[in-house]
Amino acid sequence: MEKKEFKSESKRLLDLMINSIYTNKDIFLRELISNASDALDKLYYRSLTDKKVKVKKEQLEINIALDKDKRLITISDTGCGMTKEELEENLGTIAKSGSLAFKENMTKKEKIDIIGQFGVGFYSAFMVSDKIKVTTKSIDSPDSYTWESEGVDGYTIKKAKKEDVGTEIVLTIKQDTEEEEYSKYLDEYEIKSLVKKYSDYISFPIKMEVTHHELVDEKKNKYEDKKEIETLNSMIPIWKKNKKDVTDEDYNNFYMDKFNDYDKPLKVISSAVEGMCSYKALLFIPSHAPYDFYTQDYEKGLSLYTNGVMIMEKCADLLPDYFSFVKGVVDSEDLSLNISREILQESHNLKLIAKNIESKIRKELETMLKDDRESYISFFKTFGMQLKYGVYNNYGQDKDKLKDLIMFYSAKEEKLITLSEYVKDMKKDQDVIYYAAGSSIEKIKDLPQVEQVKDKDYDILYLTDYVDSFAVTAISEYEGKKFVNVESGDLDLESDEEKEEVKKANEGNSDLLKEMADEIKEVSEVRFSNKLKSHPVCLTSKGDISIEMQKVFDAMPNDMGIKAQTILEINEKHPISEKLKKLYKDDKEEFKKYTKILYSEAKMIAGLPIDDPTEISRLICEVISK
Ligand code: ADP
Repeated sequence: MEKKEFKSESKRLLDLMINSIYTNKDIFLRELISNASDALDKLYYRSLTDKKVKVKKEQLEINIALDKDKRLITISDTGCGMTKEELEENLGTIAKSGSLAFKENMTKKEKIDIIGQFGVGFYSAFMVSDKIKVTTKSIDSPDSYTWESEGVDGYTIKKAKKEDVGTEIVLTIKQDTEEEEYSKYLDEYEIKSLVKKYSDYISFPIKMEVTHHELVDEKKNKYEDKKEIETLNSMIPIWKKNKKDVTDEDYNNFYMDKFNDYDKPLKVISSAVEGMCSYKALLFIPSHAPYDFYTQDYEKGLSLYTNGVMIMEKCADLLPDYFSFVKGVVDSEDLSLNISREILQESHNLKLIAKNIESKIRKELETMLKDDRESYISFFKTFGMQLKYGVYNNYGQDKDKLKDLIMFYSAKEEKLITLSEYVKDMKKDQDVIYYAAGSSIEKIKDLPQVEQVKDKDYDILYLTDYVDSFAVTAISEYEGKKFVNVESGDLDLESDEEKEEVKKANEGNSDLLKEMADEIKEVSEVRFSNKLKSHPVCLTSKGDISIEMQKVFDAMPNDMGIKAQTILEINEKHPISEKLKKLYKDDKEEFKKYTKILYSEAKMIAGLPIDDPTEISRLICEVISK
């Protein structure tokens, strides 16, 4: 029979699995049980929506059998099974959701991280087995098939003779080595405790034949081995259990198993609501962003159950976009079991639940910010972008809900602070919130415009994410204090005398300034200013579009030509001012060159690209070689 090759990426993952980069090999069992449980869920759900499929809940179960002598562990389920195509597709390839970018020389930790992102899944069985045999019959096909593999070499698929719908997985357990005792997986007691530890909440019975060493004759002290089928799990979904009976570890294990994460969650939120629409929710905030979180592939949503039966794996309507990072389960008796997706969307109860969940998450985050700042900062660094996006998305309709959850870097405190903290610490004579935007803290620090505000001892919020300027613009004011970009033209920080002085300089040189503006074309104005301390020039903006926002628009694939209205400001006290005045009188050609060079400098400082670097470089050389 022809042996098929694994897809190349699967091969590399397999290789890592076989060479066991995971220290916790135990998890293979929870992965296989979890797959079995999903298959049972699928079949049961089918039976509710498809009259042709008849299933009794009692038939749905998972079985584990051990054969010490042959070193076999068999995990079977009466779930939906797989067709030949599905077998090929599901077990012949992994990473359907993206490509596994394994790089050379990656550390073990990095590899684990990457694999963790995809969920270790079925292949984890190769950590403990030399050979895997999967025999399956799909609810959608009369035929059954066996898939078999001994690892990286490939796999075979052949016809089988399985009577009942479902899947049976037989693992041939590896021989013990010096480092690892694989034989423990053939031990009843070990398997029992692993099921209890990782899979207790699974809502279908996980059965195994266990041997009881029973005292049959007390006088003779005679024992006999009795075999008995036992259900190993309590079957109570973790979210239905009494909170006091569930440990943090239970929650963490459930989360890691159900949502394929290699790390425990940052925060567990459990909530039970009784009333018009009753439900239980168990929500998690991950401690790191899923690998695809910032891509289009990422699907938000919570798993929706009614009476312990899953009706939708990812119900997007339960989460607003700004909380799309939340994972979890919602179980409500007040939703109809065989409700279609379209009807569900319209369901009043679902909307009610979604609203409650949104406010629950928000309150939990507010509490975290208040009581556990360290965790909140860690959360905010990971998902804060999503909240800031939520502030300005949908025309800012949610900004009031979110404005107290967002943070910005404070120039004074040199750490993230909230808007309320900024306003609380404002100087007596300060009546606006200053911010400056740029691609990094370091770059913003060096902006010429920052100097003047700092001199007044006012704090400045440094905005480094591209969404920040938009968020701040959407909020527009906090507790009556307007946001003001230090880059904007009129900061109004000068004394009356200083203003008068600058006014004179501008009026006295209006021809010169106009000629500069005409020469540059892109700017709406050129003017002398005394806001600059050491720098000769800077670029400021006026109106709604800041220079930072323009950069975002410029980077969009469909450039809509949205530009900031910019002003070139020249430091009146800098020697360059005198030079310009002199050239304007004596040498117009040279004056034009200086104008172009100064404008390019201002653009460079603002982080804007220079349209014609070769031309500018030529001009600079001409000027300096004089
Ligand atoms: P994941 O469960 O994360 O999707 P796996 O590698 O564990 O990844 O499994 C791949 C796919 O194989 C599953 O999504 C499922 O479609 C299928 N599968 C695995 N085990 C079973 C099973 N016992 N019954 C039916 N389908 C299964």
